[in-house]
Amino acid sequence: MSALTSRNGRRALIAAGVVLLAAFPVLNGSIYYQNMLILTFVLAIVASGWNIMSGYTGYVSLGHCAFIGIGAYTAGIAAQHWGVSPFVVAPLGGVTAALAALLLGFVTRRTRGAAFVIVSFAMLELTGLVIRNWKSLTGGSSGLLMPVPTWDVSIQDWPFYYALLLLLVLSVALTAWIARSKLGIGLVAIRDDEDKAAGIGVTTGLHKSLAFMASAVLVGMAGAVYGYYISFLDPSAMFDIVLSVEAVLAAMLGGRGTVWGPILGAFILEPLAEVTDSQLGGVNAGAIRLIFFGGLLLAVVLVLPRGIIPQATEFLRRRRQRGKTSPVGARLLDSEIPATPVLRHVRPVAAGDVEPPLLELSGVTRRFGALTAVDDCTFQVPQGSISALIGPNGSGKTTVFNLVDGTYPVSAGQIRFAGQRIDGLGRTRRTFVGVARTYQLPRLFESLTVQQNVTAASGRFHLAGLARSAVSGTEAARARELLEFVGMGNYLDARAGALSYGQRKLVELAQVLMLDPQLILLDEPCAGINPTLIRRLASLIRALNEAGQTFLIVEHDMSFVLSLADPVVVLARGTVLATGTPDAISADAAVKEAYLGEDHVLTQAMTGGTT
Ligand code: ADP
Ligand code: MG
Repeated sequence: MSALTSRNGRRALIAAGVVLLAAFPVLNGSIYYQNMLILTFVLAIVASGWNIMSGYTGYVSLGHCAFIGIGAYTAGIAAQHWGVSPFVVAPLGGVTAALAALLLGFVTRRTRGAAFVIVSFAMLELTGLVIRNWKSLTGGSSGLLMPVPTWDVSIQDWPFYYALLLLLVLSVALTAWIARSKLGIGLVAIRDDEDKAAGIGVTTGLHKSLAFMASAVLVGMAGAVYGYYISFLDPSAMFDIVLSVEAVLAAMLGGRGTVWGPILGAFILEPLAEVTDSQLGGVNAGAIRLIFFGGLLLAVVLVLPRGIIPQATEFLRRRRQRGKTSPVGARLLDSEIPATPVLRHVRPVAAGDVEPPLLELSGVTRRFGALTAVDDCTFQVPQGSISALIGPNGSGKTTVFNLVDGTYPVSAGQIRFAGQRIDGLGRTRRTFVGVARTYQLPRLFESLTVQQNVTAASGRFHLAGLARSAVSGTEAARARELLEFVGMGNYLDARAGALSYGQRKLVELAQVLMLDPQLILLDEPCAGINPTLIRRLASLIRALNEAGQTFLIVEHDMSFVLSLADPVVVLARGTVLATGTPDAISADAAVKEAYLGEDHVLTQAMTGGTT
């Protein structure tokens, strides 16, 4: 077990495995086992590719073996056309498969969940149909003959074996690299909550395109080698859903969303299938195989819903942590506020500067059917201020945030940010311009760790930055600094899904700070958290504001708002009722009538304020 848990142990184990597989055909002349391993490699490569699209990114595909077929046909046709070995044109198979994946991504760019599963299956059927009917190019249903291997029979199927072993090693390396990169963290963020991901600067369209291409390219190359190996391409065998289902099953058995899960699953599944075939063979072999896979799929879902590797890792982690206490909340709450992290992009406002307001809403209206949630709303957020937006429940405060950050388009009116119109920009573009927001109910990526949740955020577009490591280096260091600042430094490696409500709010604050935003919108930051934490939050906001950070805060805790914010904007039924200093707002008769009531000053005195 220790070999599995230490880094060097794992490396040695992997190296030993590769050496063993590389030596196998030389040491053992059995063509039977050689072929079994070849099929295992193919399955492992398909499962591994599937895992990038479906395991990490969460777009479950049932058509992944289409990329095997596309790669095989591309190489077969090119080899015939140019009279070269399919090995030479295998990379071309990878390229066509990647382009097909890109097309799939484009067609399904607004499709999620079950709809995507169906489209992926349709893609498989459709590709088969095209191949069957494009007779002049593909030979149609009578099939396509691959060139005959020219090497000496004494080396058996070695070239296929080693080519596929190489592609398998590359598949693992590609997955491992993606999993550690900022791209990979973004993919998991998309899987957990795609809309939220778009709001923290994950370029979802680009991320998905890259992931889809990565998940197809090596499968396409493996298809070229596999097609050469079986020597005859026939559309009904190449585009059969059974191989796709096998790949899904292998990845789920070993653990989707892990580097090694699909490989482990394939190495268990393919030999098992061979055995059932040879033991229970005969005319019904195909049907028996399907029953076998169906039963196994059911068993995996029931017994190992997350797959072998995640569940074994979880088990080991629990055993290691038995007896050790987890970091406690009390220490966090009592600790001093650390020094404010350097705000990298905030421009401090010099006294006497005449600048346009940072945020300016003029006549903004949003209708949902017959309901007008925000009605001709006009107000401004001055540079460097802590502004507040208050009002009764349902008065449209969250909707204003959704209009400013681009979740919804405005029905009428204009939104300007630092003087520029932003109401036409998409969600991620507005993040890059400098708008960041937290949610009334915090939305973290539950399967990522606390630190990864923060590293997932990027305040500007940086293509090469996607390749950067998300687990070490400057990104991770910045995330750590911000988490320490909000008081969550003890929880870096905790799963976000395991945090309490108040802790989630703090992590979400660190997440938006990672964006280096000009403006931070906080939606009810105090709701549902304890008074100590509220005091802490007020100090954090004040410290950040003193360093130049502008805020717009929606909050019902009046002592919090009145002690912190200036100006205060009061919203009622989607319209601005009053704007002014906290004192003016507390004294305003219309505001008292609509929202605060007569006794709010008394309530403030009783809770003692937040200063
Ligand atoms: P607040 O945050 O001030 O409590 P909201 O902005 O959430 O209020 O909601 C304002 C009004 O808009 C409510 O009546 C709410 O039901 C409605 N509303 C908000 N979002 C939607 C939506 N996506 N579809 C339909 N109605 C909505
Ligand atoms: Mg709200």
